[in-house]
Amino acid sequence: MRPNALLPTPNPDPAPTALCLPRAQLDTLLHLALARPAQPPHTLLAHAPLVLQPAPGGLQALAGPLSTQRLRALPPQPGHPPEPPPTHGLVLVAVASPGAPPPQGDAACEAWLLQHAPGFRLATAAINPALVLLWLRLDGQATLLFRHGRQPASAGAPRWVPVPQLHLPGGGMQRVDLAATTGRQPDPEPDANEPDPGPDDRRDSRHLAAFGAAPLRHLQRSHIVLVGAGRVGSVFAHGLVRLGVQRLTVIEPDHMEPHNEDGDVAPLCEGRPKVEALQRFVRGLQRPGAVLDLQPWPVSSARAGALIAQADAVLVCVDNDAARLWANAWALAHNRCLLAVATRVQPQGAEADLRLLPAGSGCLACVGGYVQRAELLQQLALDGPVPTPADFRQQRQGSLRSWSALAAHLGQRLLEQHLLRPGGGALFRQLQETPQGGLQVRDWRPEDDGRPRACPFCSTLQGAGQAAVTPQRLRALVRLWLDSAM
Ligand SMILES: [Zn+2]
Repeated sequence: MRPNALLPTPNPDPAPTALCLPRAQLDTLLHLALARPAQPPHTLLAHAPLVLQPAPGGLQALAGPLSTQRLRALPPQPGHPPEPPPTHGLVLVAVASPGAPPPQGDAACEAWLLQHAPGFRLATAAINPALVLLWLRLDGQATLLFRHGRQPASAGAPRWVPVPQLHLPGGGMQRVDLAATTGRQPDPEPDANEPDPGPDDRRDSRHLAAFGAAPLRHLQRSHIVLVGAGRVGSVFAHGLVRLGVQRLTVIEPDHMEPHNEDGDVAPLCEGRPKVEALQRFVRGLQRPGAVLDLQPWPVSSARAGALIAQADAVLVCVDNDAARLWANAWALAHNRCLLAVATRVQPQGAEADLRLLPAGSGCLACVGGYVQRAELLQQLALDGPVPTPADFRQQRQGSLRSWSALAAHLGQRLLEQHLLRPGGGALFRQLQETPQGGLQVRDWRPEDDGRPRACPFCSTLQGAGQAAVTPQRLRALVRLWLDSAM
């Protein structure tokens, strides 16, 4: 199957309807710009690889890792790194001082490009690089323009067309509508005309009081993809259904075994798909019109990647690192938030581990999160579902329903905060029982100095799109990562 066979085919040579740029990266860039003395007309220029990818609302432009280094020709690749994924061009971000307008008209845009980014053709592997220019003024004005990479000679000077939406995946999942300033409307999303019941005043009365109407509606309209419907994942799914989330996709290829019945699943389902046992358990709780999309495929399938491309957040509740790595790779490639939740019981007591990684804030390789590093290559070499290690005690001594439910509920709260609060970077939360029977809670944030991460996964896959995630590339990246000092 082609990697993006499930995504709609784009019109010939269209302009994107949105730029998807991780909020964490934009925040870092704005901090850099504000720390510099004002030097009109523009103070800072950053660039990132550009990938154009079909999306439900039209063609989407994905931004890779942002860099403020001077644009220059791509350096030769030392050693034998994995083949870089294909790109379509460059995203240029100009952070301008208050009042500094963007260049007006095609000729002025071309002149600006020649003056400020003359090396754009050499700084991308694309043969006919397309460009997206995001002009951000420090007084809050934004302009987004697209320049086609492939234009017939008869078309004359290159045209710059407005892009109507800026998506900032990250805390708050903000979407900036620029249609009023561009005159170009985004294509309606496929479900835009479907009735939206909104919160139920009676059933949601406590949630309405806790969140407020608009935030609750925002939560309920989120599209969540859950990878893993085991002890933690099934409780997480149950909680999201009770919250009234309208679109929940569950990716889980496994079948029920007797020991799986301590999850939130229907009884007497031994041998049935886990997603079916979960559906039987929650079906009486679903809201009118809510979609529980059950996908009995491995997370390594292209189908899983195409679903993650449409998610607001990806929850990973699996007990093996290869599945975590695949989910993280898809989340990186599509600029999606990842929340990985795991529990274990150690000799000194139970532990829960939650890792929230908003788009652009690193991955489980560079900020930590894999416990079976040495087995990753072996697991990735297998086709189909990634098996749980034969001896589960290699990674934990057992599991407790109480801690699985605790971890899932804490994860849901982290997710709610992430979807509602603008900004915020990566957050790790660890709960641990002490030998004396106490409870320790530790929060920490991985350091982020704003520079592109020297991480093979982030530098290669972030914003690189569906086609960039292949078994061959993941194996090469794992080898590079294991060989490096990280
Ligand atoms: Zn990374």
